[in-house]
Amino acid sequence: MDPAKHCIVKPGSKPRLRDRDPDETFGKRRNDKALKKTLDRLRSLQQLLYADRRYALLIVLQALDAGGKDGTIRHVMSGVNPQGCQVTAFKTPTQEQLAHDFLWRVHEAVPALGNIGIFNRSHYEDVLVVRVHKLVPKQLWHKRYRHINDFEKMLTDHKVIILKFFLHISKDEQKRRLEARIQDPSRNWKFSMADVEERHYWDDYTKAYEDALERCSTDQAPWYVIPSNNKWFRNYLVAELVVRALDQLGLKYPRPTVDISKVALD
Ligand code: AMP
Ligand code: MG
Repeated sequence: MDPAKHCIVKPGSKPRLRDRDPDETFGKRRNDKALKKTLDRLRSLQQLLYADRRYALLIVLQALDAGGKDGTIRHVMSGVNPQGCQVTAFKTPTQEQLAHDFLWRVHEAVPALGNIGIFNRSHYEDVLVVRVHKLVPKQLWHKRYRHINDFEKMLTDHKVIILKFFLHISKDEQKRRLEARIQDPSRNWKFSMADVEERHYWDDYTKAYEDALERCSTDQAPWYVIPSNNKWFRNYLVAELVVRALDQLGLKYPRPTVDISKVALD
């Protein structure tokens, strides 16, 4: 069974998060050797992407608090050449950012051709936290689904490949992870009271995610719901989907600009 087929949100369909099991592993077993091979493959594909210069890859990571965005970046991108890869974390907008349209800060962070860009949170916060906490009126955030689709279509027309991953954890798993941040001194720094407060809005976030995934999963920029209670499975599936996307591009090293056979070095 191919997990990717089950995890993609088919354009126009409802993601039905409540019916998706965050513990799901599709009969796979943890296999660190296989993951290492996939990551090696990712490394060579990144080098090809960089040399080829015809495409960029944008990976959008969204999750509820403690959903594993940082861990996914750490594991999946370990070994990727930092030259050619940028991670952008989108935080509460600054006054300057708020004085612009919501895509202003996002567009600037989109990777250039040849590069991989990772969004740790993204423009989707503008239809998630903004909606849940009523930071702008509904008539404004509601139009953003269309703005997002138009923006992403423009990017994909420009050969930016877009993969969007929602790291799906259960409320119990979130509790365990927040507890670990309280109990483990090396994780205390990650603990924030805001995360405890946000747990009260779990159902509102679920609704907001379901709408965003339904309205903004498109053929050219699909959403995947990654079962993420098991970190090893989350890492495996994200790595696998990234490798597949790059594999499909037919990346090539560009032809040398000189006739190599005629070059003589003294
Ligand atoms: P963290 O990812 O834990 O560092 O937290 C970043 C915080 O910034 C989260 O609480 C997000 O909800 C918040 N944030 C990110 N983008 C936006 C946005 N466009 N509007 C309001 N809050 C945002
Ligand atoms: Mg946080």
